[in-house]
Amino acid sequence: MGTRALAVASHRLLGFAFANADLLLEIAADGQIAFAIGASEALSGSRETALVGRAWRDFIDARDRTMVQALLDGLTEGKRGGPLVVTLASKGGVERAAAMSVFRLPGNDGAISCTFSRAAPSASHGLHDKAGLEAVTAALFETNKATGLEMELAFIEMGGLTSLRKVLGPEAAKDMELRLAGALRAQSHGGGAAADLGGDRYALVRHTGESGEALAQRLLHLLAVDPAHGVEAMAKTLSLKGEASPAQVLRALRYSLDNFIKDGLDAAAPASLNEAVSRSVRRTLVEVGALGQAVADRNFRLVYQPVVDLKKSCAVHHHEVLVRFGDNASPFPMIRMAEELDLIEPLDIAVIERTIAKLVAEPTLKLAANISGRTITSSAFVEAVRTLLADNTKAQGRLLLELTESAAIEDLALADRHLQALRAEGILICLDDFGAGAASLAYLQQLSLDIVKIDGRYIRELQHGGRESTFIRHLVTMCAELGVRTLAEMVETPQAEEAVRRAGVDYAQGWLYGAPMDVAATTAGLANTNVKPAARRVGAVDGWG
Ligand code: C2E
Ligand code: MG
Ligand code: MG
Repeated sequence: MGTRALAVASHRLLGFAFANADLLLEIAADGQIAFAIGASEALSGSRETALVGRAWRDFIDARDRTMVQALLDGLTEGKRGGPLVVTLASKGGVERAAAMSVFRLPGNDGAISCTFSRAAPSASHGLHDKAGLEAVTAALFETNKATGLEMELAFIEMGGLTSLRKVLGPEAAKDMELRLAGALRAQSHGGGAAADLGGDRYALVRHTGESGEALAQRLLHLLAVDPAHGVEAMAKTLSLKGEASPAQVLRALRYSLDNFIKDGLDAAAPASLNEAVSRSVRRTLVEVGALGQAVADRNFRLVYQPVVDLKKSCAVHHHEVLVRFGDNASPFPMIRMAEELDLIEPLDIAVIERTIAKLVAEPTLKLAANISGRTITSSAFVEAVRTLLADNTKAQGRLLLELTESAAIEDLALADRHLQALRAEGILICLDDFGAGAASLAYLQQLSLDIVKIDGRYIRELQHGGRESTFIRHLVTMCAELGVRTLAEMVETPQAEEAVRRAGVDYAQGWLYGAPMDVAATTAGLANTNVKPAARRVGAVDGWG
């Protein structure tokens, strides 16, 4: 063997030695596979000898080619890249994947040594969206706690891409997009942890190493657009090292990504996970503080939505009270947060207090207030309602409570004792959102109820003639046997009204009869139904008939 041949052999051995792999390939500068050794057939379905002389591109699945191209193009001498999980070109329809690592030996004529180890195929061959990246990162964070690998989240802003797309025209812009996606994936952990956040902002998770500046420069290089177009790249990193719990990590990730999407890199980004966690906690506390303040100051409005009696010519039977904070937006996110943070009970009591004041002021009204599944297990809540009714005797006999299913009831027996105590005060109990949660049937079985409100999703599907009408008919029969009346919410069309009426439902609520409004409309404001407006009056306060 001559010295040249020896040098080449030792180079190859060096290349092979840097990883423990199933297959080693050497890719020459012209893109051809110059050398192959290892368990090629088992891994790829092709013999080593069949690989030599072919282009590497034929060996890799088309969906992963731009990523591998970026991995090879971004590799400087003496440096290692990967591992990336790549899908190999299909042989006989079997999906085979391998973790691919690359190394460029100095002075090897630009050839790149690659190792492949068998791996599970990755589910995605492109960029994630924000939610996808959150999920991938949270999972990585968990596994890396075990392996001790240090990871970081990189935020990347590409200035000038949007205008460049217009200059390039659709074909060239698509090519550039593919190159960019490949480049981002190639820099990310395993090739599967990069995301497009919209507005020329991207993020990826990778091993801690080089600076954000170096990452930005590499991406620009891989994007390979004429510098005259003035595209710029900027990147900042957030170390994922820290002692946070998985829930805190996820929250901190969301916080950081939201800030980046909103303000870009200009806003002072947190540098560490610990800082992101503490900032996200602070932000939550500010929101909680605002909600707590709103409750304490009674700084919310009530709106009223009519509920009609289908068996009495659609006369208004009562109104549901819905809370509004500031604007007219749905309070649902606030309610969820209040439930998470144990603020829901004071809110529910504050709403009932205002509802009772309204009942006192308007003696013909009957009102239904919502209470959370969290609140009903509190004896302090029951006491508070009793006291409020004792102090406002005029309101007695006209209050309903809707038990919502947004939070699960933990102790059904306790909840039922409380419901019975409330019913003894003349309050009617309605189970809200029936059928939305898994526990609905258990609630129906174990709670003392007067009315069951069928979840809006079933009513809205009725129009499409699905199996919902059978479900509703059976539910009505079952409720009738239990002595419980039924209410259909989200009745939006005369067809839906007709369907629930046929099913034997007692009451209805929805856009058809009126949206939630600042005043509790009695007959005015009702949308047309097949019943004459004159026939629709507020139900006389005849008990709860
Ligand atoms: P919910 O109790 O099931 O209230 C019905 C929701 O459906 C209301 O949304 C209402 O505006 C909407 N809606 C009414 N008719 C129609 C219709 O025909 N079509 C459609 N698509 N929607 C209709 P809102 O006001 O956003 O309330 C959302 C949820 O927030 C409520 O659901 C309830 O669970 C909760 N919530 C509201 N106010 C309070 C409160 O004071 N206390 C508690 N604990 N929860 C409340
Ligand atoms: Mg409700
Ligand atoms: Mg509902």
